[in-house]
Amino acid sequence: MTIQAIIKKAIKRLELEGKLLTPDFYAEAFCKESAKAGFSIDDCSHVENFTATLNKEFQKELTQYHIKTMAELARFLISKLNRTNPSHCSNLLESQTIFTKRVLQVIEVLHNKEATELAKKSLDLLNNEASASQIDQFRQLWINFITTYDDTFLEKLKVLGNIDSSNLKNSIENLQIDSPDKLVGSMELSSIASLLIASLVPSIASSVNEKIADISQKIKNNPALLESTSVEAEIRLAISLRIALDKQSVREMVESLDGVLDKLSLRLIDMIESSDNSTVEIQKIKNELEEYNEEPITNFKVAHKKLYTIAVALEENTQSLSTDLKTHSNEVRVLGKKIKKLEKELEEAKEESKEDFLTKLYNKRALDEFMHVKEAEFERYEHNFSIVFFDLDYFKAVNDNYGHDAGDAILSAFAKILKSEARDVDIVGRFGGEEFIAILGETDAEGGAVFAEKVRVKVEQAKFMYKGNRIEVTVSCGVCERKTHTSLQNVIKSADEYLYKAKKNGRNQVVYK
Ligand code: GH3
Ligand code: MG
Ligand code: MG
Repeated sequence: MTIQAIIKKAIKRLELEGKLLTPDFYAEAFCKESAKAGFSIDDCSHVENFTATLNKEFQKELTQYHIKTMAELARFLISKLNRTNPSHCSNLLESQTIFTKRVLQVIEVLHNKEATELAKKSLDLLNNEASASQIDQFRQLWINFITTYDDTFLEKLKVLGNIDSSNLKNSIENLQIDSPDKLVGSMELSSIASLLIASLVPSIASSVNEKIADISQKIKNNPALLESTSVEAEIRLAISLRIALDKQSVREMVESLDGVLDKLSLRLIDMIESSDNSTVEIQKIKNELEEYNEEPITNFKVAHKKLYTIAVALEENTQSLSTDLKTHSNEVRVLGKKIKKLEKELEEAKEESKEDFLTKLYNKRALDEFMHVKEAEFERYEHNFSIVFFDLDYFKAVNDNYGHDAGDAILSAFAKILKSEARDVDIVGRFGGEEFIAILGETDAEGGAVFAEKVRVKVEQAKFMYKGNRIEVTVSCGVCERKTHTSLQNVIKSADEYLYKAKKNGRNQVVYK
């Protein structure tokens, strides 16, 4: 067959099929007719040839779409090209990432710790533009999660009734905890266990017994045992033991109280028997106490009554005692007055005393009086007199070195020297501490100085001995006469100033002008 015959057949075919003579239809009809005639024409196998160069997936798609013409092939390829354009791709990727993030955020707020943590980490990963290998690693973690996720715990919720595990929120909101059984079921068994264990400890007895300790330990180790009926009997037993322990303690306490009361009553009986006022009243109390003693007290009521009776008895007894005291108190008041009077007399006697207790010389008060008498005599008769102030030197050191007793002994010894050197008409006394005064009638300053010097030398030469120790003592003196002064006060003042001068000049000396 010639090419012209094939062309004619092709045109005929188009006419029969009612198709227009377009280049595409014509080419299709021509190829079919040439194949029928057994010709292989290159132009007719363009589509197959191109298709064979595409990858397998595209080839599959081409057969699905029944692509036969070059125009169809071109359209197919154009649509593919359009679809794989880069901006389209990145838009898609971006929406997918955002979508993934939203899903992860949702998981994050769900109530599974492991899932929320994984979601949080995954979100961090996406926000920080992780590498493909990091994302793969997390994909693996999610797979692990889903394969190991165990939701059998939801089964346990059935205890609470009809629980829809696909909507826990709703189920829990609709939950009506109306029966105590459900409440118990919903509470932590371990907290009930610890409450129970606490209540098993006796409140009065000081220790638990072994059985109570055992069951407590058992429940503590495994609170779930509370649900088993076998433990119920043991708990009941422990509770009755706990009560028995407390009862026993109360009994012991009452017994010991009983003992105390017995001792108390015996003591009271002793007291009453030894009392002089064995009145009928007291005898009655005694009898009552003896009565209580016969039978031991077995409860608090009896103990209370017993104590109350004793308290009443004591109160009555005390009242009679206080009446006794009242009558005696008058006598006491009279005696008190007497004591006060005696004290006053003693005070007066002390005040009247003119003697120094240590040296037996005149004391300051006596010396003051004598000075005023001498002053009066001077004013009336112009009888001159002199005053000598003596002050022992470094006397503090004597006390410090040998003790206060030694100091006292020396003061007494000095007083003796002073007394023996003075004339009978002279007045010598202790002015205070280690200070002495001589009042010399009809004597001027020079005469006074002679007397003072005699005393000073005697003291210097004296052998003051105390407990085998020789104690060196010296004295300083200030002398002053009345007539060269305007008043007694001035005489005293001058004598004191001369004494001060003697001290300043080196002590152990007499100064009189
Ligand atoms: P001075 O030479 O300057 O007088 O020295 P002093 O240590 O004697 O003088 P001061 O006034 O410092 O001390 C007096 C001492 O005399 C103090 C006290 O211990 C002693 N004294 C005073 N009265 C008594 C007394 O009744 N018995 C004894 N043992 N000591 C006394
Ligand atoms: Mg002195
Ligand atoms: Mg002195």
